[in-house]
Amino acid sequence: MILTLVEQNLDGSAVEVSLEALTFARNLSAAGGGVPIDAVVLAGDGPGPSDELRKELATYGVRTVYALEGEDLAAYSGAGWASAILTVREQSKAVVVMAAGTDRGNELMAHVAARAGVAMAANVLTFHGLAPFVVTRQVVGGAALEEMLLDQRPAVFSVAGHAVEATPADVPGAADVVPLTPEIAAADLVARVVSTEEPEADESGSLKSARVVVGAGRGAGGPDGFGDLLELTELLGAALGVSRVVTSAGWRPHHEQVGQTGSRIAPELYIPCGISGAIQHWAGCSSAKHILAINTDAEAPMVTRAHYAVIGDLHEVVPAINEEIRRRRG
Ligand SMILES: Cc1cc2nc3c(=O)[nH]c(=O)nc-3n(C[C@H](O)[C@H](O)[C@H](O)COP(=O)(O)OP(=O)(O)OC[C@H]3O[C@@H](n4cnc5c(N)ncnc54)[C@H](O)[C@@H]3O)c2cc1C
Repeated sequence: MILTLVEQNLDGSAVEVSLEALTFARNLSAAGGGVPIDAVVLAGDGPGPSDELRKELATYGVRTVYALEGEDLAAYSGAGWASAILTVREQSKAVVVMAAGTDRGNELMAHVAARAGVAMAANVLTFHGLAPFVVTRQVVGGAALEEMLLDQRPAVFSVAGHAVEATPADVPGAADVVPLTPEIAAADLVARVVSTEEPEADESGSLKSARVVVGAGRGAGGPDGFGDLLELTELLGAALGVSRVVTSAGWRPHHEQVGQTGSRIAPELYIPCGISGAIQHWAGCSSAKHILAINTDAEAPMVTRAHYAVIGDLHEVVPAINEEIRRRRG
């Protein structure tokens, strides 16, 4: 059995990357002759998985939804939640325990692996057969790939964001809910979340889901250098994403930052303007389907990795693009 952690949005629905992880689990199951896929959700002291979530998981082929309940699981604690997930693993004898490669997914899988005494592969992109079970994973913030052998059971790993497209199953699962209230040792609750602040509505949300993102880096030149870039963003119905130099300097707010310590984006088109393409920035934009770099330096890493590039000053190139878009639209 393959056990997949499903994280939830504030409205109780499954987060997109968890649906991607379930799709990955299904691919694994298909390669393994139809091993069942179960999900584990952390219900804490809440009402448990909603009917909508149950139905959503059914469409992704989930057989059983283990709902972990209890006051001790209400607030996030890496060790506490991992010990609860291991309770399910022990009961179900799962041969694979996996999650989406979110901060939480990676932390929890690391705890699970450490407790089970096995290795863990973070940010897996694909697998190559099951015996031996070899996976390819992203390392160095997505700048390099590594093949890793997972020959212990359970095989514990997380799936890199956008490694697969979330796709419902041809045959839905039953998604029967099994509530469990595992006992959590006090020692596992010493490090736990005591308060959470939600970002203001729409902060970074539209950036993460935008089909087109216009990027801006140091090349913008200062807080007043964004006029043409914002106009391009508006003309394309895009979102603005920026480098850390820009947010550190206070030119734009942090929720617009793309990268390792910002948002990870996967638009159809990313247009980084005046961004060098440092590894930490690349970690957040490497999943873009097409990249059109605008930069004065033909040797900048962003330019050499981009699908298309315009070598020139963004303060000349971007207004010219804007003018051409306006002209074509009459
Ligand atoms: C732990 C850690 C985490 C980090 N996290 C992130 C992160 O999440 N996101 C992130 O972005 N960075 C992050 N960084 C910083 C990262 O290493 C780089 O410093 C940063 O991405 C560089 O930003 P930049 O490309 O805007 O600036 P630079 O590297 O200075 O590049 C500016 C680019 O603009 C070009 N340029 C200059 N003028 C013009 C012009 N007029 N027209 C066109 N092109 C022009 C230049 O040729 C150059 O390529 C992190 C660093 C660390 C150590």
